[in-house]
This record gives sequence, C-alpha cells and structure tokens, in this order.
Amino acid sequence: MTYPYDAPASQALFDRATQVIPGGVNSPVRAFRAVGGTPRFMVSGRGPYLTDADGRDYVDLVCSWGPMILGHAHPAVVEALQQAASRGTSYGTPSPGEVELAEEIVARVAPVEQVRLVNSGTEATMSAIRLARGFTGRSKAVKFVGCYHGHVDALLASAGSGVVTFGLPDTPGVTGASAADTIVLPYNDLELVRSAFDEAGDQIACVITEAAAANMGVVPPLPGFNAGVKALCEQHGALFISDEVMTGFRVTAAGWYGHEPVAADLFTFGKVMGGGLPAAAFGGRADVMGHLAPAGPVYQAGTLSGNPLAVAAGLTQLRHCTPEVYAHVDATAVTVARLASEALNQEGVAHRVNTAGSLFSVFFCDHAVVDYATATQQNVLRYKAFFHEMLARGVYLPPSAYEAWFVGASHDDAALERVADALPHAARAAAAVTAPELLSPPTAEDRA
Ligand SMILES: *Cc1c(COP(=O)(O)O)cnc(C)c1O
Repeated sequence: MTYPYDAPASQALFDRATQVIPGGVNSPVRAFRAVGGTPRFMVSGRGPYLTDADGRDYVDLVCSWGPMILGHAHPAVVEALQQAASRGTSYGTPSPGEVELAEEIVARVAPVEQVRLVNSGTEATMSAIRLARGFTGRSKAVKFVGCYHGHVDALLASAGSGVVTFGLPDTPGVTGASAADTIVLPYNDLELVRSAFDEAGDQIACVITEAAAANMGVVPPLPGFNAGVKALCEQHGALFISDEVMTGFRVTAAGWYGHEPVAADLFTFGKVMGGGLPAAAFGGRADVMGHLAPAGPVYQAGTLSGNPLAVAAGLTQLRHCTPEVYAHVDATAVTVARLASEALNQEGVAHRVNTAGSLFSVFFCDHAVVDYATATQQNVLRYKAFFHEMLARGVYLPPSAYEAWFVGASHDDAALERVADALPHAARAAAAVTAPELLSPPTAEDRA
C-alpha cells in the first residue's frame, strides 16, 4: 500500500539503525512490520503527545505500552528523577526507596505480603515460575495460548497435540526441553484446565495467566475463569500466578485484583509501577516468597534491581495515581472506544470492541472474541489502513492489530478532539479495503 505521508528523518534514522541493530529496533513490534511503513523515531513526549524526528506530533494511544498513565514527562515524576539522579544513580546496596515502593505495592494488593523488585516484566514472570517450581518441587507450568508473559524461554511455547502433551518451542533458540515443561491450553476454557490437572496434577507447579489477557488484543477472562483456575490450583497443590504486568496499577489502584479479587499465590507487576523506567516486581504469599534467597533456597538476584531512579519514578507515579486519575482514565477509555466504534459503524465496517477495565482494543471481525482462535480471525489489512490514516492525522495507535490501546490522565479534550476528527477518515480507509479477510496471526514479531 502507499502511505499517506512519509517521514524522512525517521526513515534516515531507521536506515542507520538497521545497520547496527537487528531489524533496526530493540523490541520487535516497534519496527512496524505488522502495519508496514516507516517506524516513527520519537524525540520527545509531553502529556498525551509524542513528537517525532520530523517534528510532527501525535496523540499517543500507546503510552509506552502501558507505563505512561500520567502522560509523558509528568512534572512530579521528572522532578523526582532529577532529585534522585543528583544523589547518585546506583548504589549496589539496599536503599530507602525500595522499602517504600514495596510497602506501596503491598498496601494496594491485599494478597501480596512480600514483593521482590526486578527490572522487567520478563524477569518478574521468569522468577515467579522458578519460585513456584522451587516451592512445589514440581516441574510443569501451565500457560494459555495468546497470553504473553515476556520472552521467558519456558513461556515461549505453543500447544503440542493433546491436552497434557509437551509444549513446542515458539521460536528458534528455545529448546524442546524448556518448552516440554510447559502445558499450553486455550484461554478461557476452564474444562481443559480441569483435564490438565486430572492428567498431570501432581506435576504441575503453577498456572500463569494474564489477569485479563491484553496481548492478543484485549480478551477479558470469562466470568469465573480466574476463580476457577485458582480453585483448581488450590485443590492440586499448584500455585496460581496472576500476571498483572499490564493491568497492575493501570485498571484500578490495585490492578485487575481491584476488579476481580481472586487471591493469586503470586502476582507479577511492571509497566505502570516503573513510571517509564525499568522496574517490575513479583510478590505474593509470605510463605512462598520466603523461599527466595537469601531467606530461602531459590536463587534470584539483580545488579540494578531496586535501582534508585526507577524506584523514585515508580513511587512518584503510583502516588499520583489518585482516584481522580483512575476515573479520568476509565472515562477516557470509554470515550475513545465509543468514538472508534461510532466511526466504524458509520462506514459499515464490521468490528468488535473488547474491554477489560480501561484497556480496550478493536478487532476487525464480526464475531465475539474470547480466545486466541477467535482473536486471530480478523481482517488485519483493514487495521493497517486504519492505523496509517490515524498516524497521518496525528494519532499514534499500536502498530499491530493485536495490541491494547492505552490512554492516560493527560488525555484532555484537545487530544480527544484530534482523535475524534481523525477517526471518520480512518474508518473510511478501513472500509475501502476490499481484499478478502486476511488471516494473519500475531507472531513473536508483534511483541513489544
Ligand atoms: C509487557 C508484559 C510482560 C513483559 O514485560 P517486559 O517488561 O516487556 O519484559 C509480561 N507480561 C505481560 C502481561 C505484559 O503485558
């Protein structure tokens, strides 16, 4: 396809980048492969806007894939960072901010009694699974198709044939052995979880699930699914791990737990809690967390874990996430989703909007989306056209049809007006796509 406008400065940077960085990016989805065209190199952000190397600005509906709930360069976060930086950037010792951030998390999510800080969501889920295996003395982890938990080897697995047969590596570089300890099941199907426990209950260390799936587009858990999985885990002596890296502190002050209080044994957090810096965490029951070194035998560590800059940014952001902030984020999400749906209806474009709290995404299809199989039956060509028309009109959507849209406290009337003005044009562009339904499931490339 042709793109509504070009971006010469971004293109020049991308050309240089591809010489020295694989694919030109440090995380695959940024390369725009799912939508085509030139990835925009951003040089600054302020409130709800990003500015690219060509000097164009965009209303940002990605928010760094979730973290920037207060908007870019929030004055309080910037000031906290400046102050922290002036006191040194890393000590390699414990520091007071780590205690405050841990206390903040423990105070927000009732079942979390202790928490360990790490640097990324990937580290959080990897460590939580190691801990679950160490705690239970069992080897298998259950995950769901379409749920993303970072690029942990054991979790980059696809379903083998049969319920409890070994998983298969999703990518070269993951060995059969690490995938074989993963059981991969369709999302939202409690009966299959029951079957897996019936067949292999005494080998299952844990079940990990996104608290609400949002990495295949947004696919909320069906009523009773999370609670049902938790109950099966309890019955069979396995741990339930709720991955709240995306939902945590974004959908409510207590994350998805605030919507649906299912007491997981372990939780993983990231994104919002780092305030835009690399900070993440896993936590849960004190008796389980007590198995971590140096209190217990399960090893886990990090040179920069609890980094004073990341902790200062995260703590400041969390403290500014007031009830008013969550109310604004919720209302803004409802508005943007409604505007998108109205524009698409106006042009007769089949679509479904799925929501999970303030997370939402638009599927270009005409059926209910409840799992990976239904999520991937959509017309991604329509999304491409829609995406580029929004981009041309100064709105930055996720560069993949399989990602959530994100809003924040700084999305004000002016930003929403720009979105509202762009949507009818984007809907028209989507309607103009007459190619047959193109099925294109997301690949590892579509990941942030
Ligand atoms: C983003 C994400 C991760 C991975 O976090 P990184 O910081 O990118 O490693 C894990 N789980 C979920 C649910 C996520 O959305």
